[in-house]
Amino acid sequence: MSVAGGLENAFAAGARAGCECLQIFVKNQRQWNAKPLTDEVVASYQAAARETGLSPVVAHASYLINLASPDAALRKRSVAALVDEVERCHRLGVAYLVLHPGAHMREGVDAGIRRIVRCLNEFHKTAAGASTMVLLETTAGQGSTIGHEVEHLARIIDGVRQPERLGVCVDTCHVFAASYDISTAEGYDRLATELTEMVTLERVKCFHVNDSKGACDSRIDRHEHIGKGKIGVAGFRNLLNDPRFTAVPKILETPKGVDGRGTDLDRVNLRRLRRLIE
Ligand code: MN
Ligand code: MN
Ligand code: ZN
Repeated sequence: MSVAGGLENAFAAGARAGCECLQIFVKNQRQWNAKPLTDEVVASYQAAARETGLSPVVAHASYLINLASPDAALRKRSVAALVDEVERCHRLGVAYLVLHPGAHMREGVDAGIRRIVRCLNEFHKTAAGASTMVLLETTAGQGSTIGHEVEHLARIIDGVRQPERLGVCVDTCHVFAASYDISTAEGYDRLATELTEMVTLERVKCFHVNDSKGACDSRIDRHEHIGKGKIGVAGFRNLLNDPRFTAVPKILETPKGVDGRGTDLDRVNLRRLRRLIE
């Protein structure tokens, strides 16, 4: 939900749309710097959180951060930005901070993963007191992004000194575009099995529930309304009726707007998803 006009506004918007949990940005996602949070901002955020009861709140980290960059200056800037974001989250009481693992920029997955591991170790050391857990998000594999195989995330988690501080966010559009055909029982089982065996289910703290404009294995990261894309309702039925994930928060990142009747598209997508629960 948008935080235009103040972080606290996202809670009312979420409540209006019928949400139970919430995802926000805790700073402008396309800029490096942001003004420090004031006590006033924190107080109005916490009041809105209490009033609406939306929980958990998940933040999404800036798109500028690239822990896999071959450019040392950019990596350093990325670690500093991640520290700043997690400290904001900690102050607000945000449970999770979703992070794209990074893009290796033609240096290869192995080199990229090594850089991510080193950066996360440095981040964990610097932000030692932050209680917000960073969730590595699965990616569509567009460009040189790392994270289009569950195994990539497992290698990062297994590589860091404090793996207990990392979780996983599974984006349905991204895994589908990356080759996991969750619209079929076999493809869905392959994803669930890899999550169980490689990162453990305990670490899966959040789902991003989006349909996909791109075909399976297209590596295209373009979100579509639920049931209107290449995944289709069958894939979401698989996820929503899987008892292993009943208690895991699920967040829409589908396009905003209203339908022909003027109904908020978030409400439309939520209704479609809730109808699939058997
Ligand atoms: Mn994301
Ligand atoms: Mn996502
Ligand atoms: Zn995406």
